[in-house]
Amino acid sequence: MRYFARPGAIDALDAPLIRKIFPRYRKIVQGRLPAAFQIAKRIEAEFDGRTDVESLWDMHGKLANIFHETRKRIDAGEMELDSLKTGGKSLLDLKLLLVEKVMEDCRLCERRCGVNRWAGELGACRVGSRCLISSEFMHMGEEPYISPSHTVFFMGCSFHCQFCQNWMISQWYEKGTEVEGKHLAEIIGKRKKEGARNVNFVGGEPTPQLFWILEALKHCDANIAAIWNSNMYMTERTMGILDGAVDMYLSDFKYGNDACAFRLSKVKRYFEVCSRNHLAAADRAEVTVRHLVLPGHIECCTKPVLEWIAGNIKDRCLVNLMDQYYPCWRARLYPDINRGITAEEFEAAVSFASRLGLNFIT
Ligand code: SF4
Repeated sequence: MRYFARPGAIDALDAPLIRKIFPRYRKIVQGRLPAAFQIAKRIEAEFDGRTDVESLWDMHGKLANIFHETRKRIDAGEMELDSLKTGGKSLLDLKLLLVEKVMEDCRLCERRCGVNRWAGELGACRVGSRCLISSEFMHMGEEPYISPSHTVFFMGCSFHCQFCQNWMISQWYEKGTEVEGKHLAEIIGKRKKEGARNVNFVGGEPTPQLFWILEALKHCDANIAAIWNSNMYMTERTMGILDGAVDMYLSDFKYGNDACAFRLSKVKRYFEVCSRNHLAAADRAEVTVRHLVLPGHIECCTKPVLEWIAGNIKDRCLVNLMDQYYPCWRARLYPDINRGITAEEFEAAVSFASRLGLNFIT
């Protein structure tokens, strides 16, 4: 297999910080290493319709170890991707089957709705049994090392952020367009040829649509970095499924406590779940953490989030401190967030990140 990279599309990747924090992502974009899903597609898995679900999860855990060992050897130049078998069932097929089963009693995220999505039941995200997207395009406004990014906006979200800037998509004010996994794979291949550095799964939130994302990766022949652009509210099992499917997490870490998370996004156990998933993400892939500075939330949210990052994943992530908050959707109902942030608030966030010695961009 040849890993294709367009000439001239790699300059922002040469910054020392990017070389240091994202060595693997950088090499995938440059065509020097295979994306994780291309490896997972070549890890053999033996199962059939009679294998019980817990045995499938056990098998998935064992194959995840093989995936990591294989990726390490490929990265060290001790093994070629082409030396791995293709044709039979793979780790990626196993991930697909497990997600299909989880959706019968949906616990893809920590909402744990327990609805049968295949039977048309809807949980908090209101994503059912079809893959619906709002749009897909080449995004030029993501972080410089990520753009141009083939960004796929999926309908629906497991959060109900009262200030959501994508509320038309996340809260279903649009209907969305149905797309099949195979067709999505063709679009990803086309965007890669047009110069996309990665495919960027976002929404709303991609977690509810994980089944079709895996289906697209299964059918995708292009070697392209897969980015999981998410609120990080997945269950541990869903995090396990993503291990070996995605190369970079482009994660949101918004709140420094559960009270703000419940009041403004209507989710429980936020800090525990989000911090747990950031640890797992940093152990298994590369991570850009986005922190949107909210007006009036420096002490309760910005500082605790940045302190947690400094104490746990400081050298394993790049933080993007974001100042572009503006009140959207229902923000007018919450006086504290019914305004933009001040220059002083953003300066306080920047100097706190500096004092902690974080790797960050603004
Ligand atoms: S993905 Fe949707 S239906 Fe499934 S647990 Fe999360 S919010 Fe509920």
